[in-house]
Amino acid sequence: MITGLNAGLEKRLEADTGQKVRSCYQCKKCSAGCPVAFAMDLLPHEVMRMVVYGQEARLLGSSTIWLCASCETCSTRCPNEIDIAGVMDGLRRMAVDEGVIPAEPEIAAFHKSFLAGIKLAGKTNEPVLIGAYKALSRRVFDDLGLGAVMLAKRKIKLLPRTVKDRRAVRRIFRGSKGGARM
Ligand code: SF4
Ligand code: SF4
Repeated sequence: MITGLNAGLEKRLEADTGQKVRSCYQCKKCSAGCPVAFAMDLLPHEVMRMVVYGQEARLLGSSTIWLCASCETCSTRCPNEIDIAGVMDGLRRMAVDEGVIPAEPEIAAFHKSFLAGIKLAGKTNEPVLIGAYKALSRRVFDDLGLGAVMLAKRKIKLLPRTVKDRRAVRRIFRGSKGGARM
């Protein structure tokens, strides 16, 4: 259950990501270097502090966790070696596991579609990604013209490419937290 304040948030996140968010001393180097900060509703250094304060509902319902591009600039800049990108990823996973309605539904749909493609084929594949994304985002007829041009120029392959050992990939998904629901 999600509550506004959750004292266990920091511990759960640390168990999942291995990151000690409490060592953040709010120097803001992460936020200063983040290329997506201009669009975020919570800046990376604010996310770190709010984890310690147990502000679960605000964090999991934020746009920031979906807008983060996992570029790892913040993690590279942090003087305390906190993998902030990993923390963002952990919060995204937590939001999915808790069934929180995403603040950025189209990005969440893309996230889910991408993982569905990996689970099916073991590598990224455009047909599954495009099909799943269009169904989940309900934008079935957008970009049809562009899609036709890309198909004609063979920029998109109709048949998905797969890895040899697809069972191994499924085992990884089964063994991962929340992976079985993907
Ligand atoms: S990983 Fe996310 S939070 Fe960190 S700099 Fe990149 S976009 Fe910003
Ligand atoms: S760079 Fe590291 S120590 Fe500085 S505010 Fe960001 S997370 Fe905290």
